[in-house]
Parts: sequence; C-alpha cells; structure tokens
Amino acid sequence: MIKTIGIIGAGQMGNGIAHVGALSGLNVCLLDISEDALKAAVGNIDRNMDRQVKRSVVSDADRAAAMGRIQTSTDYGAFKDCDIVIEAATEDEDVKVKVFETLVPHLRGDAMIATNTSSISVTRLAASTDRPEKFIGMHFMNPVPMMNLVEIIRGLGTDDDTYQQVRALAEQMGKTVALAEDFPAFIVNRILLPMINEAIYTLYEGVGNVEAIDTAMKLGANHPMGPLELADFIGLDTCLAVMQVLYDGLADSKYRPCPLLVKYVEAGWLGRKAGRGFYDYGGDKPVPTR
Ligand code: NAD
Repeated sequence: MIKTIGIIGAGQMGNGIAHVGALSGLNVCLLDISEDALKAAVGNIDRNMDRQVKRSVVSDADRAAAMGRIQTSTDYGAFKDCDIVIEAATEDEDVKVKVFETLVPHLRGDAMIATNTSSISVTRLAASTDRPEKFIGMHFMNPVPMMNLVEIIRGLGTDDDTYQQVRALAEQMGKTVALAEDFPAFIVNRILLPMINEAIYTLYEGVGNVEAIDTAMKLGANHPMGPLELADFIGLDTCLAVMQVLYDGLADSKYRPCPLLVKYVEAGWLGRKAGRGFYDYGGDKPVPTR
C-alpha cells in the first residue's frame, strides 16, 4: 500500500497533486529545481485549502494535518523512502528524461515511477529508466483538487501490480480512472487540444475575436469555459507541446500547431501562469489581448 509519494515539479499540476495527496492521508515530498516555485506552491496549496475550509469541504483539523504531511526539497535524496514518485515537470521530453536519470539512483528498488505527461509516450519515457515494468502514466486534470478524472496509461512493459497499485492510489485520492492506451496525447488531450488549436486558427483567420470565440463556445456548445480561456488556463507552452507531439507522433497535417499559438509562446505570453495569454490577467477582470 502506498503511503509516501514524491512529486517532481511544483508548478500548477505538482502543487495540485500534492494538495490532494496530502488531504487523502499520504506523506508528500515535493521537489523542484526552483526554490521560488516551491515557496509559491506551498502558498498556493495553503490558500486553496483555506478556500475548501471556508466552503466546509475540508475541516480545519484535516487541513492542518494535510499541510503537516507536505515537505519540500530541491534534493533528490528526499525521495529515498517514497513508494512512488510522480513526475510533473515541464512538458519537454529532454527535461523529463534528465529528471528520470537523476531520480533513479535515489529510489528504493521496489519504488514505482509515474509521469503526469499530457502527451509524451509513456513507453519511451519508461525506457529511459531502469524499471519500465514499474513505470506508468498518471495523468491528472487541472485544477487537480476540482477535477475528478485521472487517465492511467500503461506503457508496453508496465506490470499488473504497478497498474493495480496506481489505480488504487488514484481512487484513494478521490479520483475516477479512465484507462487509455499509450498513443500520442492519450484520450482527453487527443480530443481537447485539436479543438483548442482550431479555436486559435479561428482567431488567426479573423473568423471571430477572443470574446466572440469564447462566448460562442460557452453559450453555443455549453462548454463551462471558452477554448481560449481554457488554453490560457492549461498554459500555452503546454498546449503547443501537446500539438507538436500529436503532429510528430501521428504524422498528420491536421494536427499542425497554429502559427498564432507559436507566436504567443515565443512572446512568453503563456496564459494565466504568466499573467498574459489570450487574456491579460493584470487587472480585476481578464481583458482579451486581441
Ligand atoms: P508548470 O510550468 O506550471 O510547472 C512546471 C514545473 O516544473 C515548474 O515549477 C518548473 O520549475 C519545474 N521544473 C522544470 N524543470 C525541472 C526539473 N528539471 N526538475 C524539477 N522541476 C523542474 O507546468 P504544469 O502545468 O504544472 O505542467 C507540468 C506537467 O503536467 C507537464 O508534463 C504537463 O503536460 C502536465 N499536465 C498539465 C496540465 C495543465 O492543464 N497545465 C494538465 C495535465 C497534465
């Protein structure tokens, strides 16, 4: 039974996974290369749990106990007692492979590794470690405390014991599992990201402005968020990385990333996390940037 989890990457996803893991009774060790990211993550988790206390979703005592179960580190030695380490670093295969190379010597022989990648081949990432049979995709949705799904992706070599333990872990964290085969972007992002990319083409070609496109899809298709608002929420760098994986992995021109998405990423307008993307988040209310 899993009692202690490590998390690599204290960005939007890493801090959400730490939040839910600690509330479900797990000991959590959160690692990042950036001390600032770790500080910001603990502040975010604290604020988000505070909101849950105010809404009476979580008791004050449970919140205090959960915060007490989270430790942070920039040193991989902190993972020595972990039953599993979940990687949630930047969506870049080179970054992830380097992370796994650094991680493996610090792990117990029987420890499992999961990746929260949105799109990269789990089988290929597994092959960069010494334990492909104990390696699996565990794809949480953003924001982790609110979203009920975890996509589980078995690599070609993932063994049954790892799959069963990780499935039980997701359920302990209060999530429902959907099992996806290991093909580019799995299920959710194979369907969602081409829709977002098409919304960006619609903007690029002048069919509608930001406000019209988001209003059209919210009221016309009953989506809770417009596609451009959602792109900002996911992070435009992550959106571009997923489209690139679909384009390269499926070799079909229908997945080509919109040049306007590339331009926003090149400008560093990465969405909410950067304060600006298809909307500017500097004021009281988000203002469209086009
Ligand atoms: P983010 O940019 O918010 O956070 C990434 C974090 O990784 C940063 O804090 C960065 O400092 C850290 N990092 C970078 N290189 C590192 C390294 N070598 N070692 C340790 N830490 C490192 O990104 P995010 O949105 O949290 O995405 C993280 C992962 O989760 C990606 O694989 C992404 O595809 C996946 N994901 C994202 C979403 C989403 O909606 N944003 C949803 C599901 C899955």
